[in-house]
Amino acid sequence: MTLNDYQEKAMGTCLPTCDNFSYMMLNLVGEVGELAGKVAKAIRKEEIGMHDNKLHAKVYGSPKFQWIDHDLMSEAGDILWQLSGLCKVMGWSLEDVAQGNLDKLAARKAEGTIITHSDH
Ligand SMILES: [Mg+2]
Repeated sequence: MTLNDYQEKAMGTCLPTCDNFSYMMLNLVGEVGELAGKVAKAIRKEEIGMHDNKLHAKVYGSPKFQWIDHDLMSEAGDILWQLSGLCKVMGWSLEDVAQGNLDKLAARKAEGTIITHSDH
């Protein structure tokens, strides 16, 4: 599956009332918040934490971790759907956005500015 295949299939589930910039932009932020909220709750419950600047599951390998991992991945999918929708209403393909990002990062790496150049 390509990113454009995903975008086309995902937007096949888009309701007419959602096919606009306002909904896509606002709910993209909402879905990012849902992911952050689930991570925060798992931290509060001491199910996951940070170790060496990486997310660390204290219950890694247990059935409980699989549930957390599945739930966070599902939220990441919701974010992808919303980003796909935002790109669609802007007239952008996901592949063009992804390629543009890779091109920008490659140029920064070649310039040696990938660490300090953060706003463009
Ligand atoms: Mg969600």
